[in-house]
Amino acid sequence: MQNTQTKVVTQHAVTIHPRSVKGRFRSFKSIVLVLAYAVYFILPWLPWSRPVGSSQAILFDLSEQKFYIFDLVVHANEIFWLAALLFLAAVLLFFSTALLGRVFCGYFCFQTLWTDAFRWIEKTIQGDRVKRIRLDKQSWGVEKILKRGGTHLAWLVMAFWTGLTFVLYYAYAPQLVVDFFTGQAVNAAYIATFVLFVTTYLTGGLMREKVCQHVCPYARFQSVMIDKDTLVPTYDYKRGEGSEGRAKPIKVLKSLEQRQEKGVGDCVDCGLCVQVCPVGIDIREGMQYDCIQCGLCVDACDTIMDVRGWDRGLIRYESENGLDKGKTHFFKLRTYGYGLAIIGSLLFLFLSLSGQKMIDGSIHQVRSPLYVRLSDGRIQNRYELKLHNKTMYQAKFTVAIDGLENAELDMGRIESFDLKPDEIQVLMAKVRKVVSADDKDNIDLQFIFTPTEGKSKEPIMLNSQFIAR
Ligand code: SF4
Ligand code: SF4
Repeated sequence: MQNTQTKVVTQHAVTIHPRSVKGRFRSFKSIVLVLAYAVYFILPWLPWSRPVGSSQAILFDLSEQKFYIFDLVVHANEIFWLAALLFLAAVLLFFSTALLGRVFCGYFCFQTLWTDAFRWIEKTIQGDRVKRIRLDKQSWGVEKILKRGGTHLAWLVMAFWTGLTFVLYYAYAPQLVVDFFTGQAVNAAYIATFVLFVTTYLTGGLMREKVCQHVCPYARFQSVMIDKDTLVPTYDYKRGEGSEGRAKPIKVLKSLEQRQEKGVGDCVDCGLCVQVCPVGIDIREGMQYDCIQCGLCVDACDTIMDVRGWDRGLIRYESENGLDKGKTHFFKLRTYGYGLAIIGSLLFLFLSLSGQKMIDGSIHQVRSPLYVRLSDGRIQNRYELKLHNKTMYQAKFTVAIDGLENAELDMGRIESFDLKPDEIQVLMAKVRKVVSADDKDNIDLQFIFTPTEGKSKEPIMLNSQFIAR
């Protein structure tokens, strides 16, 4: 059908200067933009009190292979959380696309957010759409040089600060900034900042919607993820065109009654929906793959409808089925599947985080030789005990064994041992046992680490085996 067909349109050779618009979706986009910028730029500067380790709230410490996220410290061997988070993000993207089309592109994607911010800078310096178009056509002079130069300078500063901020997540921010500007930072910091500085300037300032149209792969395959029940910004073709098409509100076509009488639709052909579109398309020509579904054309048309006193929604978030049959089916096998995958990955993350072992340990049985027969006839096995204190607090432990009769644990002169925050201790232990004819060849035993100091009160039990013969 005409409204929802995906079309490939001729790309624009001219610069797009979208008009500013007010409305629900513009306000929502602005709130998301301010929040995203606040989080991105402020977080690396947020201090966080920890007994040991970094005093930065968020720090991805690659040299120590630890991620500090407020009170959570993720170690390199727990990086599967990242995989779970990525899976969750992917399923959320599929879920939101199935229900609301490219809602991610329209409101949350970095490219959209940064392009929006760069456009705001451009508008602040050069003025709104009409002034910018006039400036484009104007020959080069002082005004054009100052306005264009000022815009690019502000973009460069913004792009540089974006790049540098990214790097601040990987080192102690106040120190890194000092080191960076005194030439003492590591090369990786300069390279990463430079790469992000250049890409931000290019994609946010110069390429803008071209990135969505030609670079981003999501635009290409999103059409297979939406169906007739997906809500997308849609032009109500029947209402807008009537039987005789759209028409300007000339004298005899001012009121709804006059228009209906003449078979003319509600679209007054003002072009505002096209002027506000950040990718420069006309949604009245049907759904196009360039559309990032930002909803600004909805705001624009609602403004016109409000001015005329007509019902809003000539352009609205609507599904193809909603438009044709008046009913949209949200609950389908596919959305249930995505929903279940989201719940499953959230549950996995919650259980992993809540069950995170703050003191982690392992037992490695020394197998060369498997066992030794002592002069008194007892059998001796040797073990390597490894404990990792992942907490921020000092801990102290005693060690004992359980499950083995007529056996003794020999830890040398060690009766108890300290474990500093984030320290890994490796201890050697010997276990000797009088082996009787009733004993099995391999006997289960348990090493018990009992905390005597520190935050953790729970003993740590680690299973192993005693090789008797
Ligand atoms: S057509 Fe509407 S929803 Fe799509 S990008 Fe343009 S303004 Fe945004
Ligand atoms: S804003 Fe609404 S009335 Fe104006 S051209 Fe677009 S669809 Fe028609």
